Amino acid sequence: MSKITQYSTIGALMSGHFAGDFSVKSTHSPTLFGLGCSCGISGELTVCGGEFWEATAGESLHQLDDRQLPFLQVTDFVAENSLKATGINDKNLEHRLSEQLAINNIFLAVNVKSRFDEVVIRRPQRDESQTRTVQEMSDSQQVDTHHNIAGQLIGFWTPALFGRISVPGFHFHFLSDDRKISGHVLSFTAANAVVDYQVKHSIEINNPTSEAYNTLDIDVAQLDQLISHVEK
Ligand SMILES: [Zn+2]
Repeated sequence: MSKITQYSTIGALMSGHFAGDFSVKSTHSPTLFGLGCSCGISGELTVCGGEFWEATAGESLHQLDDRQLPFLQVTDFVAENSLKATGINDKNLEHRLSEQLAINNIFLAVNVKSRFDEVVIRRPQRDESQTRTVQEMSDSQQVDTHHNIAGQLIGFWTPALFGRISVPGFHFHFLSDDRKISGHVLSFTAANAVVDYQVKHSIEINNPTSEAYNTLDIDVAQLDQLISHVEK
């Protein structure tokens, strides 16, 4: 699978469609790579080597068996291009990659491996009721800063043109090498890192098929602001 496959869109998720509509139990590819969230946005998901890791505030990192998910963005990742980078961080990665190829209009799958000087990650609280709003979910998230930690950033570069389908710019989730720490990346710095990436020419969007999705009120005018506020 050289394409990116997506279940739902960041626009639907940020409009409050947190229901786990998609079963991805059949996805067994050993090179499956990507990110998502679990039902009710109870956890940030990182997909690495076909394994699904769920990071939830107040819980140890664990693999997810029940894969009924509201949002998932995955691909089969092959490190077709590699960049050895020094002094890299969330602010200059775009520029560093732009020196390699023009990225403004294309999708990339990106994997950054390092012993990071600092990684700031965010994890949601579990919500058994699955009735909270986007704002309630956002307000309850826990932010943690980790120093001198070996691991990888797993995610995608999405051009602004597609910013209501996926998070525009970089969207990374972190996974530590010891499989103890994970979450949505807010910032990172690394003195030395290997940045592997693969251009993705195609993206497949699978919309939810439920009546709840069909009748979901999506305020497109507010959406860009909301995505920027909650996901950046
Ligand atoms: Zn995320």
